[in-house]
Amino acid sequence: METENRLSERRHSLSRERRKRQIVRRITFGGGAAVLIVLAVFLFSRFRGGRLFPAAVRNYGAYDIGNPTKQVERPELDVQLLTVNEYSRPGTATEKIRSVVVHYTANPGSTAQNNRDYFENLKDTHDTKVSSNFIVGLDGEIIQCVPTAEMAYASNSRNIDSVSIECCHPDETGKFNKKTYQSLVELVSFLCGKFDLGMDDIIRHYDVTGKLCPKYFVEHEDAWEGFKADVAKYIQENGK
Ligand SMILES: [Zn+2]
Repeated sequence: METENRLSERRHSLSRERRKRQIVRRITFGGGAAVLIVLAVFLFSRFRGGRLFPAAVRNYGAYDIGNPTKQVERPELDVQLLTVNEYSRPGTATEKIRSVVVHYTANPGSTAQNNRDYFENLKDTHDTKVSSNFIVGLDGEIIQCVPTAEMAYASNSRNIDSVSIECCHPDETGKFNKKTYQSLVELVSFLCGKFDLGMDDIIRHYDVTGKLCPKYFVEHEDAWEGFKADVAKYIQENGK
């Protein structure tokens, strides 16, 4: 009788031990799986472009531009690529494009063609190193000077992973006229789709170096926010 009792007790304690081990095993397995899931989410988000939560970053206020960003039609481009030279088109490949950088020429009344020719002549004058991927002119024309797969000299430390756009302006205020503004909206919208960029990826030269460029959009923060909202609206209405 006593033996039987002891045996049953032993059996009982054995099964308790087994259960305890099973629980420990479950916790270990669950913890390992959780770590793997967190790691997978982290790696996936890195792969999505270095942003931990791309959906949260892609904030277009009232406008839904999709994820990935909807693509709008490419605006008409006047392609006049610069000669490869170390002063304006070094021929260096860009990295993954993470931003579109907006500039103003700081040269009131100058045309897109004037600015493009200035960049081109640097190969002979060696005055300075400067250029941009695109120039938007006073009549809304867009000249492309450097392919987006190549670096231009406009945005300092961000030259390597951004696309730069210089904009012409009629006077010292730096404010863009309606035609320039509209072409800029269309060009930036197109580039957002091409490189899957969100609102926070549209930046000013000022946001890179603190330089007063583009002047009007630095001095009028509301106009800058309005510009980005206009881009979002354009993408929402015209993107596919
Ligand atoms: Zn600039």
